[in-house]
Amino acid sequence: MNSCRACFDVEAARREYECNADNKEKLMSLLVSDVIEIFRKEIPQWDSGHTVDTLKTGSESDEVKGIVSTMVATRDVLAEALQLGANLVITHEPTFYGHEDYLFTDDDPVQAAKLKFINDNGLAVWRCHDAWHHLEPDGILAGMVDALGWGRFQSGDDAAIFDFPQMTLADLAAEVKSKLDVGMLRCVGNPAMVVRRAAFSVGCNSWENQRRLLRVPGVDVLLCGEQREWETCEYVRDSASVRPQGLIVLGHVNSEEAGMKYLADWLRPRVSGIPVHYVQAGDPFCYL
Ligand SMILES: [Zn+2]
Repeated sequence: MNSCRACFDVEAARREYECNADNKEKLMSLLVSDVIEIFRKEIPQWDSGHTVDTLKTGSESDEVKGIVSTMVATRDVLAEALQLGANLVITHEPTFYGHEDYLFTDDDPVQAAKLKFINDNGLAVWRCHDAWHHLEPDGILAGMVDALGWGRFQSGDDAAIFDFPQMTLADLAAEVKSKLDVGMLRCVGNPAMVVRRAAFSVGCNSWENQRRLLRVPGVDVLLCGEQREWETCEYVRDSASVRPQGLIVLGHVNSEEAGMKYLADWLRPRVSGIPVHYVQAGDPFCYL
């Protein structure tokens, strides 16, 4: 090994220090607040003072034993986190159903059961939505592009625009279904139409943003997580009379989930010694 004497001494001193159990504990100790601080430091463009990314349960002073990253902290995901020995769950979407995670005041049985499970098991749940979308490039989009293998098709400055070799709308839908292992997609437009340029709007983006992407020059098709059913899909339907475009609706979870796997991979080297797992929440729908 080609290491200098000084480096060897540093390593030896560290090994000796770690041999003392107390010191080892100090070296490994990481609090929930430390994990949140990593995101504050590394994503300064995220406004952590005005955000839904707050601690929903647990305390910032809880010591982290293991971390699970997931799209939605469902009951099943929480149970799996426990099995994995994790006590901090980082979720992209709300835990208590509304965007702000306000707790119902009417003794709701579903909320009560979930809260009891979380509190009985000492789980801290932190939401990472705004921060992760503020990573540059957007952490959710980056993870999705990775899962789709579309990095080589990204075009120009806008990470959400892709130029493909010529294919049909049906071909593109089939590729997305297979790469993301999605059970069903909904499309607007002629399945046989040729598409070359696509825009990807992950999650539940606004109608204004989805229209903006459809108006990017040359865009033939928009992929999105969800959209209101009197807005984007009707605009795309009427586009047939001007310049036909296509729409592929993936479902919210399907359109973002790989971005939280990417978060686990990003976070792991930043919390060395603490296990970081990705747990898939999966599409909540079954198709009958
Ligand atoms: Zn999102």
